[in-house]
Amino acid sequence: MQKIGITTTVPIEIVLAGGCIPIDLNNLFLSQDSLRLVHQAEIQGFPRNFCAWIKGIYAVTLQEKISHIIAVTQGDCSNTQALMETLSIEGVKTIPFAYPYDRDKDLLKLQMERLLKAFNCSFQKAMDTKGRLDKIRQKVHTIDQLTWNEGLVTGFENHFFQISCSDMQGDPEKFEMRVDKFLEEISLRAPLQNRIRLGYIGVPPIFTDLYSFIESQGARVVFNEVQRQFAMPECGQGEDLVKQYLKYTYPYDVFARITDIKKQIRIRQIDGVIHYVQSFCFHRLEDLIIRKALSIPILTLEGENPGKLDARTKIRLESFLQMLNGRTD
Ligand code: SF4
Repeated sequence: MQKIGITTTVPIEIVLAGGCIPIDLNNLFLSQDSLRLVHQAEIQGFPRNFCAWIKGIYAVTLQEKISHIIAVTQGDCSNTQALMETLSIEGVKTIPFAYPYDRDKDLLKLQMERLLKAFNCSFQKAMDTKGRLDKIRQKVHTIDQLTWNEGLVTGFENHFFQISCSDMQGDPEKFEMRVDKFLEEISLRAPLQNRIRLGYIGVPPIFTDLYSFIESQGARVVFNEVQRQFAMPECGQGEDLVKQYLKYTYPYDVFARITDIKKQIRIRQIDGVIHYVQSFCFHRLEDLIIRKALSIPILTLEGENPGKLDARTKIRLESFLQMLNGRTD
């Protein structure tokens, strides 16, 4: 089975139904010696002042000899087109996919039809695969629910299982077994006692110890916004594939994301929000809109290269958590 690299969440139902294995290049990059990969891309000519995720995706694609990638040219990253072109001169074949900014149903359907053609697969076959994946997603939604409602899951575990839904770790059956095992394990746990409840919004963190540091300070992330979207929280069994990817908030305008964030802040009784922004990323500007829209304390954290939290970021987090602690007294 051929491995297909993906740069963000795409309709993997089509990839799997076409007999291929989706590999989320972001997850692959972070699971390796990621800082070395960033440097590798810089040696190849990527500028220092460029997003580390892009550099990592570039280097890991070549290192792992991924021959085909689906590049989301609209709805994910303003750098993807350039990434696609730099990889194509290295011989990597790219399959473009675009989420229409205005959430136009017909345009999205057209994009899916192009993908179906590229993978030589029928709509019905993709729908059958969706049935299989929805069953797994449902279990991951249970993990999410057990995070905020029962206090049985750490912020990192919540992040990990939801983010893994982007490619089902390349093997849905194996991933489902891992999810089942985890659900069994946590049924024996006592609820975690963290006083402050946090929301994490924005692209996934490049820091490796963010969640554990937060928990060492008596707080816990009970909402991972974008990661939760990767697990398709609104998808219904038997629902049309196009409809499912229209409900997915991340690739369209920021306002649908804000509606979702506000709703989850209320339901999950969140005390404060960490907005993570990646250095040199266009999403950075969304901080301005988010700060105007949310009436809850927000800490904007910026990360550049993969690795542990730096001292300055730790101090900022500590101060933010102390302030929230004072408010919850
Ligand atoms: S963090 Fe921003 S610039 Fe970097 S890959 Fe993601 S969307 Fe693109």
